[in-house]
Amino acid sequence: MAVDQSILHGKKILLGISGSIAAYKSAFLTRLLVTAGAEVRVVMTKDAMEFITPLTLATLSKHPVESEFVADSEKGIWNNHVELGLWADCILIAPATSNTLSKINTGECDNLLLATVMSARCPVLVAPAMDLDMYTHPATTENLIALKQKGIQVIDPGTGELASGLSGKGRMEEPEKLVELLAQQFLDRAPLHGKTALVTAGPTHEAIDAVRFIGNHSTGKMGFAIAEELATLGADVKLISGPTLLETKHPGIERTKVKSAEDMKMACEQYIDATDILVMSAAVADYRPKHVAANKMKKKDADLSIELEPTPDILKSLGERKKEGQIYVGFALETDNEIEHAKRKLERKNLDMIVLNSLNDKGAGFGHDTNKVTILRRGNKMANFELKSKVEVAKDIVGSILALYEKEK
Ligand code: C5P
Repeated sequence: MAVDQSILHGKKILLGISGSIAAYKSAFLTRLLVTAGAEVRVVMTKDAMEFITPLTLATLSKHPVESEFVADSEKGIWNNHVELGLWADCILIAPATSNTLSKINTGECDNLLLATVMSARCPVLVAPAMDLDMYTHPATTENLIALKQKGIQVIDPGTGELASGLSGKGRMEEPEKLVELLAQQFLDRAPLHGKTALVTAGPTHEAIDAVRFIGNHSTGKMGFAIAEELATLGADVKLISGPTLLETKHPGIERTKVKSAEDMKMACEQYIDATDILVMSAAVADYRPKHVAANKMKKKDADLSIELEPTPDILKSLGERKKEGQIYVGFALETDNEIEHAKRKLERKNLDMIVLNSLNDKGAGFGHDTNKVTILRRGNKMANFELKSKVEVAKDIVGSILALYEKEK
């Protein structure tokens, strides 16, 4: 089965290229990684530039190619191997020559690529490419064994025709396969790989007549950020969103657009049985007009009353059918006795966690890019978080979900 490459979305890949004829394939490799949504920065050795131009790789990666410690001494421009090493989520050296492999093994760092590898804390993968006798040389064999012992993933080269005209082992693995191996390596480390998440976001609109509705100020930013974070950690995410202008970016998110609380309930019911993690962050309307006028209601010179009835409480009804092992997260927006009300909601809706939004803090709540939350868990556990960007708050919320799994182990 093909490896799911959506995990590469947003990942920072440092592609190292050393001097082998296989470097011509690095351009296609860069293109594939960028297409998969990865951010790619290329570091080349000087010899690699004899085989392929930095211009090609800079254009495809959309970043300048780096190769020198000091790029322009007069302008004081220098490349920081430490910054590059720490930037990367993963380093892939493709092609990796015999010379580069040997130097990595002994810790030499006489070029920017080697120094970056030495500075990195992330996984390093190497795709050797060299001619037959170089590959079978005992020195190469020893280097590859030693590199593996140092935790570097060696991607076995293929067998076939080599640039010298000889035939045998030494062909760099094909770019498509390298992308799959990279994706697999991220999946292996993704804590939510294999889990399915259902996230609701945004407001609901409850129709009054053909053109009017009752709604609220929710923009969906918090729920979208949570969906994105869950997908980044490997979960297969279903996002049920009420009316919002937001777009999803992550290919690991499948979105269903709904309008009313009733629509949202039906969409949730479709997915809930196959869901491991439910995050109900939508601001679902509590009431809806009892009768919806088929046409636009005419303006009259008199007061107008609209009779309202409660909408279904989606979370409560999902809570009643909750299965062993499912994690349910709800949201609460309170203005008085916040903690007490949130705790009661946690019980009543059969949740594992409730995220209490503050409306009392500047910059928190509807429409803002920031939020301030308190996370309550069963057993009177509570954590207060600072005012942060919604993307950071999403990381805290998903981090608390991960902690629930850790506790289970
Ligand atoms: O009871 P209250 O509306 O304050 O609870 C908020 C939580 O319940 C949120 O997670 C919200 O998404 C969910 N909810 C729901 N269906 C409703 C109203 C709220 O699922 N009709």
